Amino acid sequence: MTLIVKKFGGTSVGDVNKIKDIAKNISNSKEIGNDLVIVVSAMGHSTDNLNRLAASITSNPPKRELDMLLSTGEQVSIALLSMALYEFGIPAISMTGSQVGITTESIHGKARILDIKTERINNYIDQGYVVVIAGFQGASLSHTGSMEITTLGRGGSDTSAVALSTALNAEICEIYTDVPGVLTTDPRIVSNAKLLNEISCEEMLELASLGASVLHPRAVEIARNYGIKLYVKSSSENSSGTLLKSKIKPLKLKRGSLELTKTVNSLEILEDQAIFSLSHIPDRPGIAATIFESLSKAGISVDLIIQATHDGKSNDITFSVSESNLENTKEQCENIISKLGGKYIFKQSMTKLSIQGAGIMGRPSVCAEFFDTISNANINVSLIATSEIKVSCVIESSNINKAIRLIGEKFKLADEQIIMNPSIMNTDEPEVRGIALDKNQVQITLRNIPDKPGVAASICFALAEGNLIIDTIVQSERVSALKTKDISFTINRDDRKYADAIFQSLIKSWPNSFIEDGPSIAKVSVVGAGMASKAGTAAKIFRSLANYSINIEMIATSEIRTSCIVFEKDCKKAVNAIHEFFELDK
Ligand code: ADP
Ligand code: ASP
Ligand code: MG
Repeated sequence: MTLIVKKFGGTSVGDVNKIKDIAKNISNSKEIGNDLVIVVSAMGHSTDNLNRLAASITSNPPKRELDMLLSTGEQVSIALLSMALYEFGIPAISMTGSQVGITTESIHGKARILDIKTERINNYIDQGYVVVIAGFQGASLSHTGSMEITTLGRGGSDTSAVALSTALNAEICEIYTDVPGVLTTDPRIVSNAKLLNEISCEEMLELASLGASVLHPRAVEIARNYGIKLYVKSSSENSSGTLLKSKIKPLKLKRGSLELTKTVNSLEILEDQAIFSLSHIPDRPGIAATIFESLSKAGISVDLIIQATHDGKSNDITFSVSESNLENTKEQCENIISKLGGKYIFKQSMTKLSIQGAGIMGRPSVCAEFFDTISNANINVSLIATSEIKVSCVIESSNINKAIRLIGEKFKLADEQIIMNPSIMNTDEPEVRGIALDKNQVQITLRNIPDKPGVAASICFALAEGNLIIDTIVQSERVSALKTKDISFTINRDDRKYADAIFQSLIKSWPNSFIEDGPSIAKVSVVGAGMASKAGTAAKIFRSLANYSINIEMIATSEIRTSCIVFEKDCKKAVNAIHEFFELDK
């Protein structure tokens, strides 16, 4: 018998007719002899409605009570679905997360799963039952030993399903939703978005964390870590869906640490880098495109790109290139500033350090520990780039041995996990696989912060303490007469209300520093495993936006993604522009 875990999302159980439809789908699968565990979300928008109820009583509900309330949504659907299955003559039994024994961390609102008991589920399966389990919830043990209901975070039913697949050793996990699978982008934004038959877990992890709500990022992380065969399919039409692929060797499941695997798997060192900073260049559509097109035409491959926001009408763009391109890049920068104005500086003999690991995602403390280790050795970081599974920064090469030793010790890395000068593999992977839009981010800038080692670390630590996840983080290279810099980042809109308290105490010791809210923005992220090995992808992205007169507020990149912060009013136009430029509908 094949054990399949099927998860049905909110829209798929949106009303009783849909519940009856999926009961039919389940009974068909049961009749051909499969063993089934079903995970369901709350009906339709009921989680939003429960949140609204809470908000009508208080703007700051106690997190424990909010979990108590939100977890009821899924309890409704499991009971109704089990009743519908009985109607089809299928014996079914519903269970909440705590009845199953889904143990989580003692954190309300975004708890990670530590362990799942399988005895009770397996017993029912052996007796021929379909087991229907409430997604999105678990239970933690408080310090007094009593059980508390927890939730996993919005969209977390996907994570419940993949975690159950791992614990039960299921052959297949299928996520059923209201689209045919993972598409090149959200079909609500681009009507001709195309179905992807396959996508790598790495790409999906980026897309999911950068706004593609079709999968909860932690579900992808678990599938990648434990090698779960994961499909995304339509609950209403027959489609083969999308299969997630992973190249990494699956981990062995350790009891009690299902979602708490080792955070950092490797440290990569890329030597002989040079950093160029163009500053005071005009802030208008087409500037980034012009710059990166001229570099690309000159055969210069650019690694990281960062554009920070600035007061007034000018911008700074910083990027890194291989030192072998130093003279060529200088020449191009001269050309660029003679046309656009502004100035440029460069630093040579630089090295890029990157820590990598799926466990970095959603754990701001890892980023903080990385920067802290570097700053404790009194090393200044020049350029920061973060992605879901990688954090990079550039430092002076003279500090490199010390940095490698300290980071290796901090993250307990063996020699073979320290990789010198990895070659960028030429792959057949497309430079652009998909585009994600995140309208849930707000931009904050910390102005006039000291330009000295330890500042990036202290900002990350402050955020980590408040359990706030920073997303795009961009540090300007423009140093003021007061030896200060600006650092901008985006955080989740819901977290904004906690940020003030966190930063006020941090900046107290920095004279002249203050927090500034940015304009209404959205983040457009382009993801593709082939991006690093193909020259000029960034230039094409910027050109496609310039063609529609869309201004770029901030830029942040990693090897497999380029994110542009644009004004919220432009965001849908931006996604459509990039989709069209790269012909993703073909
Ligand atoms: P469910 O309730 O089934 O969990 P979600 O609303 O969480 O469904 O996720 C499905 C939605 O994700 C789709 O309706 C679609 O609008 C959105 N989406 C965003 N990006 C993508 C993408 N790249 N591919 C498919 N759907 C996407
Ligand atoms: N019902 C929860 C939510 O709306 C969990 C989920 O749907 O995955 O976020
Ligand atoms: Mg969902």
